Amino acid sequence: QGATSVKCLYRRDRANMPGSQREVQNAEEEGVVFEWLTAPKGFKGDSVTGVIVERMRLGLPDATGRQSPEVIEGSDYVEDADIVIKALGFEPEDLPTLWDQPELGVTRWGTVKAEFTTGATDMPGVYAVGDIVRGASLVVWAIRDGRDCATAILEQFNSAGVVAAE
Ligand SMILES: Cc1cc2nc3c(=O)[nH]c(=O)nc-3n(C[C@H](O)[C@H](O)[C@H](O)COP(=O)(O)OP(=O)(O)OC[C@H]3O[C@@H](n4cnc5c(N)ncnc54)[C@H](O)[C@@H]3O)c2cc1C
Repeated sequence: QGATSVKCLYRRDRANMPGSQREVQNAEEEGVVFEWLTAPKGFKGDSVTGVIVERMRLGLPDATGRQSPEVIEGSDYVEDADIVIKALGFEPEDLPTLWDQPELGVTRWGTVKAEFTTGATDMPGVYAVGDIVRGASLVVWAIRDGRDCATAILEQFNSAGVVAAE
């Protein structure tokens, strides 16, 4: 993507990171710097110029044996940044509120309610596919869902007498 430097903030240390160690190593080989025991607290600037970062320390192990991160009070510093990619979990945002569309149906997990074969949602003319319907899934499913949805939309146009361009 042409970035001159990339930093990844992570609130635990390498040993307590649940992700793939091989992927971490691959990222490091490509120049990514991991800032272990750090967590984002906020952003600087209207158009972001930096991330306000809190330093963390590891406390006692939880029930799973993993040490829980704790904030070191007063340890804030600013990490300069041109672009921030927030990768803070797999949960959908509250889309009906975010988009002011209360009629958009969502499941109890916050994913959009849609027919699996067509992607049709509770709102006429609005379709949804991929992770926002399935939850965290795979690229192949997102592609397949997108194709099925495109076919369904085309069929709907055709049945309504709208001539589709090739
Ligand atoms: C770290 C990680 C590793 C993964 N590794 C793999 C892997 O190895 N193999 C694999 O098959 N899958 C992998 N996945 C899963 C895969 O990335 C997803 O299943 C797939 O990208 C889902 O595609 P999607 O089109 O549904 O959603 P996304 O790819 O998330 O696309 C949604 C798009 O909508 C945009 N968007 C969001 N909100 C708005 C808005 N309000 N207005 C306009 N645009 C908006 C987003 O910017 C984004 O571009 C991984 C996922 C993650 C997070």
